[in-house]
Amino acid sequence: MNTASVPAAPPAGDDGRAYDRSALGALYRTRLNKGRAVLGEMFGGHVELESRGAWVITAEGRRILNCGGYGVLLLGSRHPTVVRLVEEQLHRNPVATRVLLEPQAALAADALVEVVPAGLERVHFAGSGAEAVETAIKMARTHGRDHLVATYDGYHGKTMGALSLTGKDVFQAPFRPLLPDVHHVPFGDAEALDELLATIPGRGCVVVEPVQGEAGVVLPPDGYLRAVQRACTRHGAFFVLDEVQTGLGRLGTWFGADREGVTPDALLVGKGLSGGVIPVSAVVATPRAFSVFDRDPYLHTSTFSGVPIAMAAARGAITAIKEEGLVERSRDLGAQLLRTLGDTVREHFGDAVRDVRGRGLLLGFEFREPGIPGDLLIELVSQGVIANHSLNSHLVLRLTPPAVLDAAEVSFLCEAFDRACRAQAARYVPTSEGGPVHA
Ligand code: PMP
Repeated sequence: MNTASVPAAPPAGDDGRAYDRSALGALYRTRLNKGRAVLGEMFGGHVELESRGAWVITAEGRRILNCGGYGVLLLGSRHPTVVRLVEEQLHRNPVATRVLLEPQAALAADALVEVVPAGLERVHFAGSGAEAVETAIKMARTHGRDHLVATYDGYHGKTMGALSLTGKDVFQAPFRPLLPDVHHVPFGDAEALDELLATIPGRGCVVVEPVQGEAGVVLPPDGYLRAVQRACTRHGAFFVLDEVQTGLGRLGTWFGADREGVTPDALLVGKGLSGGVIPVSAVVATPRAFSVFDRDPYLHTSTFSGVPIAMAAARGAITAIKEEGLVERSRDLGAQLLRTLGDTVREHFGDAVRDVRGRGLLLGFEFREPGIPGDLLIELVSQGVIANHSLNSHLVLRLTPPAVLDAAEVSFLCEAFDRACRAQAARYVPTSEGGPVHA
């Protein structure tokens, strides 16, 4: 597939800076964040101006297949169903009074309840994944569950409460003190969780992911979530399942919870709920878990909670995933990509690959050397593909492709991945002459 095309249109009111890498770099340095400017340059200094489906289009007219997006883009960019509902709402009533009744929030909540595990019936909308985590922490406290339990290397966001759970010293250290009474246990080890909860009977709030995304696509043993639920029941803990990254089809099931048939007290949804168009997240809770919020509608609020324009995006996302069978597509395409890309990476990197794993369209490639994922990411961009690193693991390259890739796009991805692996493996893998291990 040809990745060169016409340059994207400039943004409205552009004074020329959108097309000028160095002017834009200077703006990043002086107005945004110096480190972010350096990162942008490391990835080739491309300026993204437009996105369509699986593609990002740069100022120079390069088309880059977006298999990153930190798990947001199951529908790709600007999915027509989402755009249609958002556009309609934009011209109808984008922001509500928060005094009168407004249908979009109620309809979006109803659509979400329809696709989550039975028993989860009440929805609180928020703006970001971290905000959903904060809401769940507060919800647990309304039931006296004031000890938080999360997993090492788990990721739950970076606001103060969520950061207390995000088990990574590098993100926590500059901001301590964080919340008190936070415990971490190894992910996948339900016995360790059970033992810990036994020390805080009736006080625990357990927050786990079904698959740890930012830790580098870490899959727990089968039955883990069921064992977590049992431990929570046994010791009177509040069970929060963070599906901000894994939910809405990413794992090839609507939710990770479905695979194990569990119903947490609160399920967190984000990223994909946006339809890739308007940021939005949600906590979907059992009526019992939600009960204190019911008593006072002002107890936990935020100006843009349930904002109609985002609600239209959420409805559009759920509708499109359903109508186009994208949960099944995620399962099947994910299995195909895991096989093909796994073979490719092993062929080129051999023993430098520690593991290839994934579920649905959440794929991780773990190496033995921390330099490889970074170099491969940069190489992939120059070969026309965007992937991601993992925030909590430097060893894992992560791919979160959209479920809407067509056959030609899948071929493009596989071929670009092959070229990128070939180019970078030459630097890391000993040649037959005993050449460079790391040039
Ligand atoms: N929970 C999980 C599982 C996540 O993966 C993320 C984001 N990577 C968050 C929470 C935080 O979401 P946000 O960045 O939107 O605050």
